[in-house]
Amino acid sequence: MGRYFRNLWEGIYTVLVGMKVTWRHLFTPAVTIQYPDVKLKLPERARNRLYVNMDDCIGCDQCSMACPVDCITIETIKSTPDVDLGLTSVGTKKRLYVSRFDIDIAKCCYCGLCVPPCPTECIKMTDVYEFSEYNRKNLIYSFSVMTRAEIDQAKLKLAAYEKEEAARKAAAAATRATAGPGAPAKLAPSASSGAPARKPLPPLPSRPASTPAKPATAPVGQPPTPASPAEPSVPKTEAPDNPDTKP
Ligand code: SF4
Ligand code: SF4
Repeated sequence: MGRYFRNLWEGIYTVLVGMKVTWRHLFTPAVTIQYPDVKLKLPERARNRLYVNMDDCIGCDQCSMACPVDCITIETIKSTPDVDLGLTSVGTKKRLYVSRFDIDIAKCCYCGLCVPPCPTECIKMTDVYEFSEYNRKNLIYSFSVMTRAEIDQAKLKLAAYEKEEAARKAAAAATRATAGPGAPAKLAPSASSGAPARKPLPPLPSRPASTPAKPATAPVGQPPTPASPAEPSVPKTEAPDNPDTKP
């Protein structure tokens, strides 16, 4: 009979001990949240998904070069002088069209190394961490705001400008070659020959101080003797100087 009541008491006691733990945790603050209905506030400097403000991007490629996993792809097109792309928010002049700015966030390791090199502070890490996708390709974020037509137009315009510039330079070179017979005549003989024509060189007596440059050419020009005529003219100027100084 006594054993019966002892077992009864032990049963009640163990239930009370278990309920004690339950009652104690019933009034302690909860440490879990009902995600995704409730979300924790991330630290201010949390590194999550990247964002690029294309209004400030100048296409300098600094962020791409800093990325250790090459997950940033940038393509740019030079603007022609007649186009004003405006300024960034920090006052930097934009000279390039950014036709492509892709970040493969699936490769990103959230190191944050791409952020500090940016001169216009337009690439930054946000607190967005919910961007899972079923298709891996959807993790490639394209930030460029240019349409295909705008890209083609910018490329065509640049190609036309470069062609025009090349033609202008060629025309300028041609006119320079034809209009300036005196200057090229002096240059040509120096390369080939023209020993007698070197007499105009003596007017440079003030350079004897730079004698080291002349002896350097003398030994080299063994067969091209015409090159030497310029050198003897210098020592001639030095000779009179020495006698003058001695007395
Ligand atoms: S956070 Fe790191 S890995 Fe991600 S894009 Fe920037 S540099 Fe590359
Ligand atoms: S470093 Fe900044 S400005 Fe330069 S390409 Fe990257 S995001 Fe654009």
